[in-house]
Amino acid sequence: MDNRGTLHLSGLFPEELANWLEQQGQPKFRGKQIFQWIHGQTVQDFGEMTNLPKALQTQLKDEFGKPLPLNLAITRVSQDGTEKYLFALADGATIETVLIPEGDRRTLCVSSQVGCAMNCSFCATGKSGYLRNLSAGEIVAQVLWVENRLRNEGLTLTNVVYMGMGEPLANYEAVLKSIRLLNDPNGLNLGARRITISTCGLVPQIRSLAQERIQVGLAISLHAVTDQIRSEVMPVNKRYPIAELLAAGDYYASQTGRRVSYEYALIAGFNDDFHHAHLLTELLQDRLCHVNLIPVNPVGDEERPSPEGIRKFSQILERGDIQVSVRKERGTDIEAACGQLRQSILGE
Ligand code: SF4
Repeated sequence: MDNRGTLHLSGLFPEELANWLEQQGQPKFRGKQIFQWIHGQTVQDFGEMTNLPKALQTQLKDEFGKPLPLNLAITRVSQDGTEKYLFALADGATIETVLIPEGDRRTLCVSSQVGCAMNCSFCATGKSGYLRNLSAGEIVAQVLWVENRLRNEGLTLTNVVYMGMGEPLANYEAVLKSIRLLNDPNGLNLGARRITISTCGLVPQIRSLAQERIQVGLAISLHAVTDQIRSEVMPVNKRYPIAELLAAGDYYASQTGRRVSYEYALIAGFNDDFHHAHLLTELLQDRLCHVNLIPVNPVGDEERPSPEGIRKFSQILERGDIQVSVRKERGTDIEAACGQLRQSILGE
């Protein structure tokens, strides 16, 4: 039987692997062994699983080809060290993953869907439409593949952010499972506090996530200070307006004790004047939060404000006692905006 594309071993916990092995007439204890090889040792070949019998290695190879359900199609390396990977999945769909090294940190930005249905106007992924959700195994495989690459250089990943292609909370179950797989002490053992989920603002899912008893960071894409402006660039705002979104953010902070990060893409002439900065300060006053200002990566007609304009916007927030940072430009020479590499390759 060929299980490529339907069952992803990298998306199964040891007990699930054990149950699958039992159905194949194999001993259950091999489930934990295979889990440790895939998630702990990040092996890329069943032949490296040296404590498995050769016959089982061969069976796994015949059915799955390789432990991870993706193949590297293209790598682009930026002058600033950012690396962008285009992976092909078993059904031919492609996704992007970005490695961002900075000092001692190596952060991986993973995709959670092929395309995205949320249609934010400033986003290359949104423009290419939605194809399908990724499985937990396909999400985790992006992390394991890059971790393996880094280990060959004596390095390791320190952080994972769900900020690549797709809206993670629209693929809730798979994303949650992938986080638990990354947390597993028999595997990568990556602490939830090193993981951040970014959402365009799906209020019910933010509230559900707050109750999951995991300590992942939450980044909410705000990008505008009034419902009228926000609805223009983010259709999701018509379903979940700003007041509801901020209330959900507060609930998340109260349940997890974690400061919510509000992402604000600065678009020249649209949301970047001083009036907007003052309104943003008022909106976020007394909330457990932080603002991340992102000079927009142009994918349409949008332009980023001048460095001086960005600095002044940031100062107004600081003076209003709002914690703020400005995201550094990374990988612009390799089409850094989410979805841009895929778009340029597919000619969408
Ligand atoms: S910004 Fe995020 S949620 Fe919006 S279209 Fe792009 S990938 Fe989807």
